[in-house]
Amino acid sequence: TERTFIAVKPDGMNRGILGNIISRFEAKGYKLVGIKTLVPSKQLAEEHYSALKEKPFFKDLVDFITSGPVCAMVWEGEQVVVTARKMIGETNPLSSAPGTIRGDFAVDVGRNVIHGSDAVETAQREISLWFEQGELT
Ligand code: ATP
Ligand code: MG
Repeated sequence: TERTFIAVKPDGMNRGILGNIISRFEAKGYKLVGIKTLVPSKQLAEEHYSALKEKPFFKDLVDFITSGPVCAMVWEGEQVVVTARKMIGETNPLSSAPGTIRGDFAVDVGRNVIHGSDAVETAQREISLWFEQGELT
């Protein structure tokens, strides 16, 4: 079955909505196969967002994601990559429908609470970047 990488960003952690977010994925029927909290290093953050390194907001993005604890998770289940993206909402929270995570909890594109892999191949890359094999069940 398919796996995706989900990370609750420092704003989501600081606001105390990690449990709510985990509950949504559990309630949907997905299985949690890896979870840890960490403050990402600059190197990890730059590698994670390497596809965006030419963007004008890249430095702010890396500074933000390394500014505090992140909860890194791997979720497993049927079509979990695309379905998690639907549950998360649009990149800009103001374009995200109510009922999605960003639609319910965020207003700022630079403080949008959660990351989810955008494709199956990206998910595989991100899972191996953030987790060792032995950390996953
Ligand atoms: P993520 O990868 O974090 O799940 P995403 O896939 O919806 O988000 P990306 O295009 O991968 O969006 O951008 C990564 C992050 O960069 C976004 O979550 C957002 O915080 C930030 N970002 C994207 N576009 C902008 C923008 N125009 N201005 C400021 N920040 C942006
Ligand atoms: Mg992305």
